[in-house]
Amino acid sequence: MSERTLRIGIDLGGTKIAGIALAPDGTTRAEARVPTPRGDYAGTLDSIAGLVAALESEAGAQGADIPASVGIGMPGAVSRHNGLIKNANSVWLNGRPFAQDLAARLARPVRVENDANCLAVSEAVDGAGAGEEIVWAVILGTGVGSGIALRGQALTGRNAIAGEWGHNPLPWPRDDERPGPACYCGRHGCIETWLSGPGLAADHFSQTGERQAGEQIVAAALTGEPGAAATMARYLDRLARGLAHVVNVIDPDVIVLGGGLSRIASVVAALPEKIAPHVFSDAFDTPVRASLHGDASGVRGAAWLWGPES
Ligand SMILES: [Zn+2]
Repeated sequence: MSERTLRIGIDLGGTKIAGIALAPDGTTRAEARVPTPRGDYAGTLDSIAGLVAALESEAGAQGADIPASVGIGMPGAVSRHNGLIKNANSVWLNGRPFAQDLAARLARPVRVENDANCLAVSEAVDGAGAGEEIVWAVILGTGVGSGIALRGQALTGRNAIAGEWGHNPLPWPRDDERPGPACYCGRHGCIETWLSGPGLAADHFSQTGERQAGEQIVAAALTGEPGAAATMARYLDRLARGLAHVVNVIDPDVIVLGGGLSRIASVVAALPEKIAPHVFSDAFDTPVRASLHGDASGVRGAAWLWGPES
């Protein structure tokens, strides 16, 4: 039996489309990126097809017995109800049969998954959660979301929303956290409104009157500036509650953090002991780690949507 020699992963973002070609052992054979043709559905299909051809050419994979597999990671999801894209912030894809159109264009099946699920798969296959059965990957950036990999495969869920965590309410809220900030989704007090970079900045402003970006607050806290340190303490407490709530449901083997705020080592290190009091268990020894592949986890996870057995 011939073995697949190349896996191509595409990370479809709002400003750029990144692609990678992985050898069977996970080493990178080719990489490329192009700007996202915003608002242009046909142009997006063209760009991805061009990227796939370029990656195959650079990796020398044309004419292989089994063509390179193609996986796509993107914000949003494929509706299991009708096969159309939903919840994408690249809004020109919503309501489109994107996976089918791309499969026809590339003359092969494609797998499309939410980008947070791709992070989880990437880290589960050969990243910070390598070999673990249940990997919960959390993105803390401009937005907040998460994905779950079960034995190295994305857990999609019946409604294709498994891991959608950012628009659950902040758990165990204190009186001064209710009803919480208004969220674009129409609710109040969503986890994203507290734990995203903009959420961190808004909380800092509400308590200190200072308008600072998330990175500035983090830097000031590291120098011991009291207002910023207090903001980071509130942030960590809220993040720990948000994480504990899900630990009580899926009890992951490892929690992997991605996104800008995951790069702060002191945040990652402080979490286990802050999560523990909220977990309904006599013991809590779940590791919390920063993602190993960082920004490359999106493309790598998309490539690994086609696992060793597929
Ligand atoms: Zn919301």
